[in-house]
Amino acid sequence: MLELYDTIVIGGGQSGLACGYYLRRAKLNFMILDKQPVSGGSWLHAWESLTLFSPSEYSSLPGWFMPKSDQQFPVRTEVIDYLRKYEEHYKLPVKRGVEVSKITKEAGIFQVYTAQGVFIAKSVISATGTWGNPFVPKLEGIDKYKGFQIHSANYKTPDDFVGLKTLIVGEGNSGAQIVAEVSKVTAVKWSTKRQPEFLPDEVDGYYLFNVASAKYKAEKEGKPFDASQYNLGNIVMVPPVKEARQRGVLVSAGTFRQLYDKGVVWENGEKEEFEAIIWCTGFGYDTSYLKSLIPTDERGIANTTESKSLDTDGLWLVGYGGWTGYASATLVGLNRTAKQTVQEILEFLKSNHK
Ligand code: FAD
Repeated sequence: MLELYDTIVIGGGQSGLACGYYLRRAKLNFMILDKQPVSGGSWLHAWESLTLFSPSEYSSLPGWFMPKSDQQFPVRTEVIDYLRKYEEHYKLPVKRGVEVSKITKEAGIFQVYTAQGVFIAKSVISATGTWGNPFVPKLEGIDKYKGFQIHSANYKTPDDFVGLKTLIVGEGNSGAQIVAEVSKVTAVKWSTKRQPEFLPDEVDGYYLFNVASAKYKAEKEGKPFDASQYNLGNIVMVPPVKEARQRGVLVSAGTFRQLYDKGVVWENGEKEEFEAIIWCTGFGYDTSYLKSLIPTDERGIANTTESKSLDTDGLWLVGYGGWTGYASATLVGLNRTAKQTVQEILEFLKSNHK
């Protein structure tokens, strides 16, 4: 006889853990399934030098603060350590090494399929993040290029690029941070669609969170909000990016038309050879396993009101970005979404599974 859970959470990264905290407080019978062998979510795969955008005191999951860091911004390994200890501290029931391949629903019960068997639940939270769905634009000639190319999802350290003339594509934070360190070991060009825009030096992730919160509050209250003060998508001046700006390497070379076997053809028709390309072109959402249950678009976006699925009752999606709850893709922003999601689950269970 299979155990019927109140809730199964798919994904044991920061989003799954934040939901776990509130599910435990609500005394629900739940389980978290995660395909990786250890805790840490996508932080396990990030490049070695990646740090948070904000100090530890402003980067905490609900209930338990991230320990203070010696650094201005906690480093990747400190985030992984925090997530592991958080899971232990709250004794969250995470089954590791379990990948969910599909979900179906019959007579109001979800069937969650894995190589280790089927699990059943009255409700499901999908918290699988973005890392598993890196985006690379389908540019002309990309299949002809014979050099080394990777997405930032798989980039680890500049050491892999020593001696390789490298093109870095993408004007976001990933692009700027990777240009900053690869340019120290080899010749680099930075291709961006628009001129990269940098936030003022004193603006960190927590400041951005406050601006986003004020914007959210104003929208909820139907009040006007001057969002022009800072564009939340602009580059945060973390220390390595500041240092790279001083060296004069954060300069865009513009866009290119197409690729050829040895490099790219710039907009003015000039060809330039590159031995490596790093695509810092963002991510879709890692929701393909939900296709058996609900429609998702080409980026993996589902129909939701905040985190609640509009296509099937009993399903929530947490932590993917603005479309699943404002600032919900950040540690500090998860609290509100996770709390509200579990509140909605409680109401759902009360009216649908008495
Ligand atoms: P993930 O961390 O990706 O966790 C999802 C988990 O689900 C993973 O363990 C995965 O293995 C598992 N999974 C996926 N599919 C399945 C499946 N089918 N079955 C079972 N398990 C599955 N965030 C901040 O809060 N502060 C920052 O300063 C910050 N800086 C960033 C800087 C950069 C350059 C980048 C790229 C990201 C940054 N982030 C930051 C964002 C942060 O890394 C992610 O948003 C965050 O890790 C998302 O957490 P998550 O739990 O939703 O997803």
